Amino acid sequence: MIETGFCCVIGKKKRHIFSNSERRKWMKRRQFLRAAAAVSLIPLLPASAQQTDVSEDEPLAKSLNYVKDAKKAKGHAKYAEGQICGNCMFFRPDQNNGCALFSNRRVEKEGWCMSWVAMQ
Ligand code: SF4
Repeated sequence: MIETGFCCVIGKKKRHIFSNSERRKWMKRRQFLRAAAAVSLIPLLPASAQQTDVSEDEPLAKSLNYVKDAKKAKGHAKYAEGQICGNCMFFRPDQNNGCALFSNRRVEKEGWCMSWVAMQ
């Protein structure tokens, strides 16, 4: 049976070039391919686009005693005045304030953790 459909070439109603059901199928396939292409590009996005903030509550942060404000680290055996993420060798200001120990996820510049090492 010939259906009246939509012609993708000239954009007018025309006898069978694409039936409406074929067109819908084609559009779904196209949407799927676009979505698949978008998902496949995610690993290629710059690190800054994927970054999330390091939370004090996550397991690694807890194990390193990470705090978003170094003042809260006063009293910690390894903390010394002046130590902040911003002057630690693991800090990555060029990568949206990421920390190498946290897979370059963003930390507070004024934060601190017990793995602090002076920037060379
Ligand atoms: S390793 Fe350095 S930059 Fe990373 S959280 Fe600890 S003090 Fe901050």
